[in-house]
Amino acid sequence: MAYTIIDRRADALGGQRKDRALSAITTIGWHYTAVLRKNRAFITNHEAYWRDTLGWNRGGYHFYIDADGNIYQNYDYERITWGVKDNNWYVVHISVEAGNGNDYSQAQIDAREWLTRKIMADLNIPASKVKGHWEIYNNTSCPGYTKAQMDAFRAKLAQPAGSAAAAAPVAPVQVAPAPTPAPASKWVSESGTFAPDFAINVRSAPNTSGAIVATYNKGQSVRYDSYYNDGHYVWIHYKSYSGYDRYMVCRENGRAWGRFY
Ligand SMILES: [Zn+2]
Repeated sequence: MAYTIIDRRADALGGQRKDRALSAITTIGWHYTAVLRKNRAFITNHEAYWRDTLGWNRGGYHFYIDADGNIYQNYDYERITWGVKDNNWYVVHISVEAGNGNDYSQAQIDAREWLTRKIMADLNIPASKVKGHWEIYNNTSCPGYTKAQMDAFRAKLAQPAGSAAAAAPVAPVQVAPAPTPAPASKWVSESGTFAPDFAINVRSAPNTSGAIVATYNKGQSVRYDSYYNDGHYVWIHYKSYSGYDRYMVCRENGRAWGRFY
């Protein structure tokens, strides 16, 4: 299948600059955005978070693949972007709009393979230097693949595109590298208001097995009295009018699912 790279370099957060020589680039880094594909976030949402919440002067990724598998270029290869901790000067970053290692669509996986092969050819980077985020700096489960899965992708990329060996699918697995453990599960008192960016379930317990008792939609807001970081999600708590404890996610892997007031 033929792909087109949609050029948004003129619009990307922080613009373009020649921060490094092409010869400095040795590695291609794979990422997910940590927002589920069904939420239909877009690169501009992530840029707003980086700029407004994290205070970044540029984005995380040279290339971005949206929920439908469309490829966007945010930065020139020579631009250094903020994709991983402490190791960005030698990496070209690709991020895919997906919430975890099992959330990628085949269209996204195919587009990522095509783009990765193009960058390998452009910069003379071998398949062995295609790395998952956590393989470059291990403070995350991003991009949600095990070492065995990454090895299988690298083996495919080492074969010519379209060959039988390259066509073999990499089996999804349910077990991803463990996220960095959170500090002990402590609730922290904090009064605030949270306004979701999209529909978020309200549950009877602070875990995704808790019964869904309501949903807050974009445009609504909820006043909360405390929060708790389980290492993946940050949960807020409030008491319902009828006196029940209610919980909802406000962040996933550090990324806000809405605004705080
Ligand atoms: Zn990442």
